[in-house]
Amino acid sequence: MTVAQRIVELKSNIPPNVTLVAVSKTKPIELILEAYQSNHKIFGENKVQELIAKYEALPKDIEWHLIGHLQSNKVKFIASFITLIHSVDSFKLLVEINKEAKKNNRIINCLLQIYIAKEDTKFGLSETEAIELLKNSEFTTMHNINIVGLMGMASNTDNIDIVKNEFKSLKLFFEKLKKEFQIKSNLNLSQISMGMSSDYKIAIEEGSTMIRVGSSLFGER
Ligand SMILES: *Cc1c(COP(=O)(O)O)cnc(C)c1O
Repeated sequence: MTVAQRIVELKSNIPPNVTLVAVSKTKPIELILEAYQSNHKIFGENKVQELIAKYEALPKDIEWHLIGHLQSNKVKFIASFITLIHSVDSFKLLVEINKEAKKNNRIINCLLQIYIAKEDTKFGLSETEAIELLKNSEFTTMHNINIVGLMGMASNTDNIDIVKNEFKSLKLFFEKLKKEFQIKSNLNLSQISMGMSSDYKIAIEEGSTMIRVGSSLFGER
């Protein structure tokens, strides 16, 4: 099967309310163009430099999502075109995104990355830190960002119960935030980005609205 065929097949097997982010990191421009032939327009990258090179080389109607850790000093390179930043993990980063979005006369959609895995190698906010961020009085003055939901990565394990419970905890926290925080112009919680090649089926069962799938579409990296 070609990558375009795999995308079409995957999309036909997920519910219509679940968005597929095709994770193209490390994969060449030609392969992304092939994927694009399936009429798929949403791609995810985890490194700023690679993202910029691909943005410049590829059709401008592609919606680019940043899924990897973002350093504050690199926000300026993507602020003019990025569609969704999945990996907001500090207040400082959010301040910077707001500043650069303003310069570009844009509102940038963001997800708060929540730490749900047992492993301590993953980036993200604890639940307490996420609540503190949303309660920060400066947050209400940030008119050029829009927090549209949460992102989480489950532990890299074959143990389905662990993965399931981590996704459950993210969904639970999402519901809690929706209850606790009113919708604001810059806070509209509607998306839960969870699920990758190995665990997207479990993630969808647990309430994911956005899956980030790389290797099972594009091949191993
Ligand atoms: C690489 C990556 C993915 C995709 O992983 P696959 O196992 O290739 O599907 C999803 N999310 C993040 C944050 C990633 O870095």
